[in-house]
Amino acid sequence: MLTPLEQVPLVTQCTLRVGGAARYFIEARDDATVAESIRWATGRGLPVRVLGGGSNLVIADDGVDGLVLKIALRGVTTRETPSAVEVTAAAGEPWDDLVRHTVERGWAGLECLSGIPGLVGATPIQNVGAYGQEVSDTVTAVRALDRESGRVATLAPSECGFGYRDSLFKSAAPDRYVVLAVTYRLAPGAAPQVRYADLARDLESRGARPSLAEVRETVLKVRRSKSMVLDPADPNVRSCGSFFLNPIVEAAALAAVDTRAAGLDMPRWPQPDGRVKLSAAWLIERAGFARGQADGPVGLSTRHTLAIVCHDGARARDVAVFARRVRAGVEARFGVRLHPEPVFWGRIGLD
Ligand SMILES: Cc1cc2nc3c(=O)[nH]c(=O)nc-3n(C[C@H](O)[C@H](O)[C@H](O)COP(=O)(O)OP(=O)(O)OC[C@H]3O[C@@H](n4cnc5c(N)ncnc54)[C@H](O)[C@@H]3O)c2cc1C
Repeated sequence: MLTPLEQVPLVTQCTLRVGGAARYFIEARDDATVAESIRWATGRGLPVRVLGGGSNLVIADDGVDGLVLKIALRGVTTRETPSAVEVTAAAGEPWDDLVRHTVERGWAGLECLSGIPGLVGATPIQNVGAYGQEVSDTVTAVRALDRESGRVATLAPSECGFGYRDSLFKSAAPDRYVVLAVTYRLAPGAAPQVRYADLARDLESRGARPSLAEVRETVLKVRRSKSMVLDPADPNVRSCGSFFLNPIVEAAALAAVDTRAAGLDMPRWPQPDGRVKLSAAWLIERAGFARGQADGPVGLSTRHTLAIVCHDGARARDVAVFARRVRAGVEARFGVRLHPEPVFWGRIGLD
């Protein structure tokens, strides 16, 4: 018999440390509790919000009028095949613990994703990525409760709709699945992947071919220098990482942006589909916003233009006001509309 907690504050459940309470709150430690919780909420006509580590969330000041289901499923299993190791982790496993575990064993594939906060179950949601690696490079299966059928399904990567910080779970069917476990296919003894220039430069200074552990160490060092690991002592700690996605524009739109950026050397990355990815951080800076710039209790990180950071007294409303200001500044200067990376819960958003 489920007995959800009531009016549970969510401020401590998310890394921005803003937001109101959950009307109902359940922590699920096994698959059966996940299923039972969904049935409990559905039977009462209540929306369900699935909570991982809260590191990609903006929660409204008046909270969530529904059930917040905290995923606390644990356990990691491995299966060796002749050419690979398949690691299956329950959705509630801390992501970086899993990365460390795989690096320590010499299994390549996740090393560049070191230091990203949150839990395993959220990694397929926005196809977590950093330094040239994305989980879609290694995910072979996502086990999830399908809320439409009430059944547990195992989705192949081709069914997950992975894209840049995107997936079926995030945009095409946002409330349909609760991820229960994810399987990653890793390469024992393989060389680390170093596709990102900053990382390569730092590693080159070490000379010999870097090990997985050295790549992890370097990623953590670079991330720390940008306040991109969670460190309670860091004044930039209250963020949800990058607040805006890098915009991807059509060729025609790019010409218009180039005209507005005349004389500036704008970074760009051609995509396989002919579109071009731009740097949100570059656009924000050239639109006149500086690191550390703040409006009262909310501002940009002093170490990373893309991170919006909360200070004492900040509310979710202040985050939205500041984000809108940044977005409007970029749109006015370059004609490019930025889209937020985090998910908004409750009565809050940028539109
Ligand atoms: C300092 C910092 C650095 C970051 N760096 C990066 C980075 O380099 N790359 C990157 O991609 N992201 C980054 N992020 C964003 C964030 O850490 C990731 O998106 C992470 O995967 C979110 O995990 P979480 O468990 O905290 O998810 P939450 O914030 O709890 O949830 C995020 C979304 O996923 C959904 N969700 C969570 N778990 C499940 C589940 N089991 N089933 C169904 N839906 C679920 C939620 O409902 C919500 O919609 C960073 C964040 C911070 C604070």
